[in-house]
Amino acid sequence: MDEQSKEAAIVDPVEPKTVLEAVKAAGVSLTTVLTTHHHWDHAGGNKELVSTFGQPLKVVGGDDRIEGLTQLVGHGDTLQIGSLKVECLFTPCHTKGHICYYVTSDDPEHKPVVFTGDTLFIGGCGKFFEGDGPQMYRALIEVLGALPDHTFVYCGHEYAIQNLKFGLHVEPNNTAIQEKIAWVKKRREENLPSVPSSIVTFNVSRNLGSRSGCLVEACYAVFGCNCSEPGG
Ligand SMILES: [Zn+2]
Repeated sequence: MDEQSKEAAIVDPVEPKTVLEAVKAAGVSLTTVLTTHHHWDHAGGNKELVSTFGQPLKVVGGDDRIEGLTQLVGHGDTLQIGSLKVECLFTPCHTKGHICYYVTSDDPEHKPVVFTGDTLFIGGCGKFFEGDGPQMYRALIEVLGALPDHTFVYCGHEYAIQNLKFGLHVEPNNTAIQEKIAWVKKRREENLPSVPSSIVTFNVSRNLGSRSGCLVEACYAVFGCNCSEPGG
C-alpha cells in the first residue's frame, strides 16, 4: 500500500473475503493483483476477487495459466502502485512462469520488500515442478541473492521449521541454523509468523555453504531441492 495515495496491490489473494475485509478496514484503493504463479493456492482466488470487488482490477503475472490474468509481465517489467515501484523478477523453476515482485519506495523509511511466492522460502526453496537446478540456482543466487541484504522477504508458505531442520540434518553443528530454529519455534508458540525474513538470512546459508557445501546445493544433490511441504 502506498501511504500517500492509499493505492494498494495484493499478492496471491487466495482468500477474497479476507482481502475485501482488509481493504475496507484499511480504507485503501485496491487496483492490482500481483500473482506469483498459477498454482491454485496462489492464483485460485483471483476470479472470485475480481468478480466480487465491484471495480476493475488489474491481474498481473508471468504465466497465461493464471486465473483472470489481464497483464502478462516478464523480467525487469515495472509497475507503479502510487509512489511504490514494483519490479518483476522472472524466477522460473517451481513453475515455468514464476515471478517474484520486488517493491521499493523513494521514502528511505520504507525498506525494500520482495514477494517470493514458491521460489524462496525461509531456509529453503520450492519444488522443481517445471525447471531444473541451474534455473533455481540463477533465481536464488543471481536474481534474489543480488537484492540488498536488508530486503524483507515475504514468501508464500510458512515452511521455516521443516526447511531449517533439513539444514541441520546436513550441517548438525551449524549454530546459525540452531539459533534460527529456536527463534522460529518461539514465534510459532506465540502464534506469530516467521515471515518476513530478510535476504541476509538467506545469505547466511549461502555463505556457510561456501565452507561446507552449500545448503542450496545440498538440496539439489540430495532431494532435488525438495525441502518444502508437498504442494508448495
Ligand atoms: Zn506453487
